[in-house]
Amino acid sequence: MAQLVVSKFGGTSMGDAECMLRSAEVSHRQGSSLIAVSATSGTTNDLIALGKTAESQPWPEAEKIITKILDKHEKIARDLAISSHSQERLEILFEEMNSLAKGVHLLRDCSVKAMDTLMSLGERMSSVLFTEAMAKVLQKYNSKKTAELFDVRTVLRTDDSFGKAKPLTSEIAKLCSENLGFLRDHKKVVVTQGYIGMTDEGMTTTLGRGGSDYSAAILAEGVSADVLEIWTDVAGIATTDPRLCSKAKPISEISFKEASELATFGAKVLHPATLLPAIRKNIPVFVGSSFDAEAKGTWVRKDVEDHPLIRAMALRKKQVLVTLSTPEMLHAHGFLFQIFKVFNDHKVSIDAITTSEISVSVTLDDSTLVNKKLISDLSQFADVQVEDNLALISLIGNNINHTAGLGKHIFEAISDINVRMICLGASKHNFCFLVSEEQGPETIRRLHETFIEAGPEEMG
Ligand code: ADP
Ligand code: ASP
Ligand code: MG
Repeated sequence: MAQLVVSKFGGTSMGDAECMLRSAEVSHRQGSSLIAVSATSGTTNDLIALGKTAESQPWPEAEKIITKILDKHEKIARDLAISSHSQERLEILFEEMNSLAKGVHLLRDCSVKAMDTLMSLGERMSSVLFTEAMAKVLQKYNSKKTAELFDVRTVLRTDDSFGKAKPLTSEIAKLCSENLGFLRDHKKVVVTQGYIGMTDEGMTTTLGRGGSDYSAAILAEGVSADVLEIWTDVAGIATTDPRLCSKAKPISEISFKEASELATFGAKVLHPATLLPAIRKNIPVFVGSSFDAEAKGTWVRKDVEDHPLIRAMALRKKQVLVTLSTPEMLHAHGFLFQIFKVFNDHKVSIDAITTSEISVSVTLDDSTLVNKKLISDLSQFADVQVEDNLALISLIGNNINHTAGLGKHIFEAISDINVRMICLGASKHNFCFLVSEEQGPETIRRLHETFIEAGPEEMG
């Protein structure tokens, strides 16, 4: 029986009519049955700007953004010569965008709820266009399959944390089997939206920026796919972000554990949560370039053949270090419980942590999380010091916490760069530390030279 393939195409793969047709060719070649697409490149940013502008600026300013979004989508529609049916669908979405922006402008209030519905239009518009591109490609190859647009909100149930909604896995599995059970017949190619979902009450939600990868993985889990494919603008996962280091090399195979660490610690190529559903169902994930489908790409799997000490490295910018100090921590218990409770009450997630006898330092992802109330709540238990403009550097690999001499090689390579905090020991796949944001890219380049370009024989 043919494999059930779920694919995702990112924003750049949806850039214009040519990109869409190229991506549709890739889907056809791969035999994808369910395709989740992102908004056309830049559109989510434009929709956010629209919400903010409609809320605070004169209406003509918002209209300018609406015109920009319309022009872009209408051009793709013309270039693809879409059917009148799809044109009507598109116009209904344009109308919804206009009304929503007007509503926000009249109320002078763009709530997170309103913003989610506004942002959902990006994927809802691109999926209408991509269904047409897919239909054209199926026709070109005289395929018996038909392309069909599907509203992902029918199956992708989430909680109501607008802006970063949590998918409800068991409800999704049930809804997928009720609504998408026909996929295994391989008669249809279903095109749907990444990034968006719906609450039980029928409110539209989004999964957080870059969330289309995660959507595709949730769908792959929901329909028990055999393979999940993530098609983007680079030929797979590389040893580091190619934008940071021109010598980054493609990785042909990487384990779920390593790739999860890499995604969590800043490699934008995969949304951090993408691999969770794939791990739960043991679905292999392929990452490739829709611009160069012949390139080898990367397989992410449970078990892989080689286990290098350092496979890849990532940089996460905009890190904040919060240090809490109090002599009361000396020989006392319960201190960590008290402070973690404060972070928990503020729904702030901590990434890396290190402690001394009378102080504890934690890293947070974004300075906007450090608000006055959080600081004053923490100040009840300790002196609080906040430092920002930091970058978290992560080395990802295997047996990291059991390899003699690794620290020496790392710190020799960056001996003139101040390391603000180190986290080692908890994971055998990760060694991470903080440097100033300014020195982040240089740190990555030096470590890449030492551990990737020089080859493993340099270690020892
Ligand atoms: P999409 O719109 O397809 O989701 P993204 O821009 O979100 O694409 O992710 C692809 C980008 O991720 C690449 O262009 C690359 O700059 C960046 N990236 C960061 N780290 C890595 C890495 N280790 N390997 C490959 N790409 C990476
Ligand atoms: N369109 C959304 C974003 O730009 C989701 C995605 O592309 O993955 O964040
Ligand atoms: Mg992405």
